[in-house]
Amino acid sequence: MSSKDIKQQNEMPEILKEGIRRNRIFSTYLFIGPGGSGKLEAATNLAKAVNCLGENNKPCGICLSCNKINSQVHPDVFFVEPKDGVSSIGIDQIREVISRANLKPYEGKSKVFIINNANSMNIQASNAFLKTLEEPPENTIFILISPSKELLLSTIVSRCHMIRFFTGEAIKMKAKGKDAGVYPDREALKENLEFLISFFRDIFLYKIIKNEKSLFHRDKLGKIKDKAAQLTQGELDYLIKKLITLRSYIDYNVNPRIIMDVLANEIKRKAGSSYKETNARNSTGKAAGSR
Ligand SMILES: [Zn+2]
Repeated sequence: MSSKDIKQQNEMPEILKEGIRRNRIFSTYLFIGPGGSGKLEAATNLAKAVNCLGENNKPCGICLSCNKINSQVHPDVFFVEPKDGVSSIGIDQIREVISRANLKPYEGKSKVFIINNANSMNIQASNAFLKTLEEPPENTIFILISPSKELLLSTIVSRCHMIRFFTGEAIKMKAKGKDAGVYPDREALKENLEFLISFFRDIFLYKIIKNEKSLFHRDKLGKIKDKAAQLTQGELDYLIKKLITLRSYIDYNVNPRIIMDVLANEIKRKAGSSYKETNARNSTGKAAGSR
């Protein structure tokens, strides 16, 4: 197995990995998060996992099925996105998805339809999709990918099992932003703030009940334990409330640059610089200095 395969297998939120381990896979998923947060990689890995011919640790990344999906030639795994030169996914494409979904898998265990940029489905395509998403055919999985749920019809969102993806890039950009004049867009900032809120909630929860089973970010248990030891309950409570307030500013159209400045100052003051590392996907794993 190449290092690329190993990296690709890791491109999956813990909640999805656990679903695969327990064989609890939903028929309709909505993956939301900013560009670069690994949504398409995770969707591809899920398609591999459900069709993998390996014995355990699915997806193995090396069996015939995994290889075919990697090369996008597996007859039961379909990648759908706007056609060349067109900005939206049209009703003809969704009709084709529906008719293929009603056929039995050709060689795999499940047919998987990955609708990339599902937010670009036009209104006719979205409406045509509703009934199939409501009652998906047997052995079929639909994975819709979008930067945010607000870009889709609420009737589509309500039919899907939503999984959020996050990136550390927006926060990291802050450090460079002062010189380069680069700041994250509103949507990326919102996703990052939501990540930080849920992460600090986990630290707070762990500090109080010391039970890792109830945590959302169990894949970051080491960092959660470190921070729980470093920060007091009062400090965590303050930080979470501050983050929630900042998150609400986005809806009031406050300039993301101002939000980033406040966020950076507050967290630096209360939690030291290690939050950046916590939120960075490609962390080196080394503990940052204490506060
Ligand atoms: Zn495999």
